[in-house]
Amino acid sequence: MAAQDAFDLVVIGGGPGGYTAARRAAELGLRTAVVDRCRRLGGTCLRVGCIPSKTLLSLTEAYAYARDRLSQDGINARQGFEIDLPRLYAYKDAVVAKLAEGVAFLMRQNGVRVIEGTARIAGPQSVAVRHAQGEEEILEARAVLLATGSEPIDLPFLRFDGRLVVGSSEALCFPEVPKTLLIIGAGAIGLELGSVWSRLGSEVTIVEQLPRIAAGFSPTGAGALQRELAKQRIRFLLAARVTGAEVGEARVKVRVEEGGREQDLVVDRVLVAVGRRPHHAGLALEEAGILLTERGRIRVNRFWQTSLPWVYAIGDLIEGPMLAHRAQAEGRAVAELLAGKPARVRYLCIPNVIYTEPEAAGVGFSEEDFRAAKRRYRRGTAYFPANGRALAADMPNGFVTVWMDEESGRFAGMEVLGSRASELIGAGAVALEAEVSVESLARAVPAHPSFMESVHEAAIAALRARPSGGF
Ligand code: FAD
Ligand code: AMP
Repeated sequence: MAAQDAFDLVVIGGGPGGYTAARRAAELGLRTAVVDRCRRLGGTCLRVGCIPSKTLLSLTEAYAYARDRLSQDGINARQGFEIDLPRLYAYKDAVVAKLAEGVAFLMRQNGVRVIEGTARIAGPQSVAVRHAQGEEEILEARAVLLATGSEPIDLPFLRFDGRLVVGSSEALCFPEVPKTLLIIGAGAIGLELGSVWSRLGSEVTIVEQLPRIAAGFSPTGAGALQRELAKQRIRFLLAARVTGAEVGEARVKVRVEEGGREQDLVVDRVLVAVGRRPHHAGLALEEAGILLTERGRIRVNRFWQTSLPWVYAIGDLIEGPMLAHRAQAEGRAVAELLAGKPARVRYLCIPNVIYTEPEAAGVGFSEEDFRAAKRRYRRGTAYFPANGRALAADMPNGFVTVWMDEESGRFAGMEVLGSRASELIGAGAVALEAEVSVESLARAVPAHPSFMESVHEAAIAALRARPSGGF
């Protein structure tokens, strides 16, 4: 066992939550270490999540657009287009490597000690790190931040085998384009990876137990997204359940029950995308006396303290939406609290995005939230077919809806379906955080032509709308 090293903060897990906390803590003068079992920092998000999926989505979107739409728009691609999967993956891996080097640089620049190894709580104010070679190192820590993220969930009759029945990590690097792909779960991961493989030529079927896709979005937004994805040849079986499966040598037979009828689907690959569970095995939580919630996430108070006051937890480990930017906001806040600064995260201001084409994005309140809160609101919508930039870019499918709180006149939320929704929603997040009025949003002058004009038009429409709700 190596000699003890003393830190103000030891972060366990170097994903977006952990590395953001470590960077901020070190910036604020705390002696900080971050431990990750992988040599490359960045966590799920960078290695097998946000970044590789968005790289594949961007490249396949360009490919599908060139293949299906360019010639209609007056650009002849005489040679046609074909996909080179190894080069696509090489590009994706290069993006990941470059960003991981950026994270490592930030740690070096701020004097964070990066330790490769598997960590656990070892006793009062101490963390044990097991290195790859087997030896254990003890770190003394005034505070510990748990940020070990999450892992995909499989189904009792569809266990991951890394080959035919897979989770999202393997679906980012199938060795060839599967002819047929069944995806279970129509959340962000199922819809995004379904888009990637459908664009590359797979026949994609998505089975979802709910009667709708994209559960976090309004029924209008989700319905419109479903229609657009169906046009791209993604087939949906909604209010449907997978009730059994037989995994063969090369194919999988899956039994699906839909509206009282059962059918067998024989497919090349199955992606189980039914959600993720917090990854805290091996941290010795029980021995340390750290409590979990009913759903198995780590229980924290509003300062992200666990039941052991010197141990904090953030990101996918705790209750709330599993999003990288939420983990980052929490990481930053914990570092600031430890440095004696005030800090908070306004969860209402955290946007949620699905990076399909069109993209779906939302922030703040929507219709259902106002109804549940019995508050009066106004709603305004602007449609992309009336937006010059969207038409010029041949991206006219979509709309922006803005919600205004009737009592205060404040901007309360926004939903966008359409190209660039992930960028436009940033304006909503800023407006919500800054508590601006819808009138200010309507007065702000967007560039012409731009997608942002639709946000402006939706704000004007909300001001002119009749109030609803409140009963
Ligand atoms: P993680 O990123 O999971 O990092 C945890 C780290 O802890 C890992 O590096 C792991 O190696 C390490 N670790 C675990 N146990 C130990 C241990 N005992 N000792 C040492 N180290 C340990 N979110 C978005 O906001 N936008 C997106 O577009 C998006 N796309 C996604 C696409 C996919 C395919 C997936 C799977 C997820 C996506 N997410 C997205 C979710 C996002 O990746 C997670 O919410 C985010 O990574 C959570 O961050 P975290 O810091 O809590 O944990
Ligand atoms: P998310 O929680 O965003 O990762 O999305 C997971 C999706 O999978 C949700 O829409 C769930 O309703 C759906 N889901 C969960 N379990 C099943 C199941 N057994 N069969 C079909 N869909 C499921």
